Amino acid sequence: MAQATTATSRDGTDNHFANYIGGSWRAASSGGTFENRNPANSDDLVGRFAASGAEETRAAVDAAAEAAAGWQRISAIARANILHKAANLLEARAQEIGRELTREEGKTLKEGIGETGRAVQILRYYAGEAQQPSGEHYPSMNPRTLLYTVRDPLGVVGIITPWNFPIAIPAWKIAPALAFGNTVVFKPASLTPLSALRLVEVLAEAGLPPGVLNLVTGSAADVGDPLVRDERVAGISFTGSNAVGASLRITVAERGGKLQLELGGKNPAIVLADADLDHAVAQVIAGSMMSTGQKCTATSRAIVERAVADRFTERLSAAASALKVGDPLRDETQMGPLINAEAVERVSGDVDRAKSDGAQLVAGGTRLADNGREKGAFLAPTVFAEVDPDSHLGQEELFGPVVGVIPVDDIEQGLAVANQVRFGLSASLFTRDLAKALDFVQQIQAGVVHVNSETAGAEPHVPFGGMKGSSSYSREQGKAAREFFTQSKTVYIDPPPASVSNN
Ligand code: NAP
Repeated sequence: MAQATTATSRDGTDNHFANYIGGSWRAASSGGTFENRNPANSDDLVGRFAASGAEETRAAVDAAAEAAAGWQRISAIARANILHKAANLLEARAQEIGRELTREEGKTLKEGIGETGRAVQILRYYAGEAQQPSGEHYPSMNPRTLLYTVRDPLGVVGIITPWNFPIAIPAWKIAPALAFGNTVVFKPASLTPLSALRLVEVLAEAGLPPGVLNLVTGSAADVGDPLVRDERVAGISFTGSNAVGASLRITVAERGGKLQLELGGKNPAIVLADADLDHAVAQVIAGSMMSTGQKCTATSRAIVERAVADRFTERLSAAASALKVGDPLRDETQMGPLINAEAVERVSGDVDRAKSDGAQLVAGGTRLADNGREKGAFLAPTVFAEVDPDSHLGQEELFGPVVGVIPVDDIEQGLAVANQVRFGLSASLFTRDLAKALDFVQQIQAGVVHVNSETAGAEPHVPFGGMKGSSSYSREQGKAAREFFTQSKTVYIDPPPASVSNN
């Protein structure tokens, strides 16, 4: 089995983890490492990871470039078999890896194991997708010409991922990249490198040739920046914040690279007066509080028809206050910590700002540091009422367990409020009225739309991505992934002339 831990371990423990470059596990040449700590308990050191830099990034791109022609030439069936085997290996370790994911990211154990299972499903899906038709056959003006298109891989691609889905997002980028014949340099988020490394481990063990997939851990400046600037990297698939996405638009476009961005959201759930209120409350709680509100698709605005706004807010606030917040490894916990102490600081500042902007705090809003939560990054599930749609809370992604209720007169006003943000990732409507549901689907500016379910639901075999500032007009997952990770080639094949003259 490929070993991710490295011989450079200096304290005799096995929790030092290396880069994976050109088929071998290697420490950073400087010998430097960085720490990964459990956000529920800062005393718990999850591991030390290679603090790499430009040298390791260059070596990873060298290895990926060298492996590219061979990987493109092997059959799609052979590539599919490796992905399929990796899925089986990951599935066999899903409990253990899901537990590690919870330890490093802080989502509940159920969510950590669930996310690992989702990565298994994604690997299986792309094992199948690799074997699907990848071009089209056309009639030609010349009836004897064979005219068709094929999709070629881009070559070397760079994959840069955030910490909030530390195994599913890497899987949904890396699996299609490999399935369609690209080689990969993967830079995971520095806050959650272990889940990323486990994914690489199973893919390596499944038989990927050396250089086809390379993992380089390290900071945005030391690894991310040289990766996006390397002209040999034909495509960059990035998921993360809007601020970083904006800088990549310039850096990657300037050097002529292909870029895919999946960014933030400010996702609305519109609740109409005819909706089943208890169902709407349960779905808004799930959408806003699961994963501690740290999902790009999290519900952060509940836009509620005035006739039911008070009743809805009362029930929402009671449900939020009843959530059990604590160690995510415990079975009874319903909400874990934020990713780290800085995130608690930032979201607490946003809560203060919402209060001073005139929103009414009806639940939470405070740090939790008692009952075993002393060393964790805990914040109470927070609900605001009477939120001004133009305020900071009404407009900006907080990325924490905070939802604001915005009362509106009717669905028309609800849609106008829902659409008046720069984001457009996901949206929900709760109603029993089919005509209003159809109007909503037509008019809402969001890439993922739900009727009577939470904004965060997303299945892995269908396209995923946002409109407006939430994306770069591309989509990930399902069949849509082929569009980014390949390019079209048009082929004309004519028979040679019937009589051959070689003089
Ligand atoms: P982030 O700070 O933008 O970081 C994302 C990744 O980019 C990390 O690996 C980071 O490295 C790296 N990075 C940062 N600056 C870079 C640069 N200049 N060049 C190259 N790489 C760079 O985002 P985050 O805090 O991890 O994630 C939260 C954000 O992601 C939220 O806005 C959320 O909505 C969004 N998100 C979107 C989706 C979606 O599909 N639309 C899904 C999940 C999350 P380090 O970790 O080393 O800093």
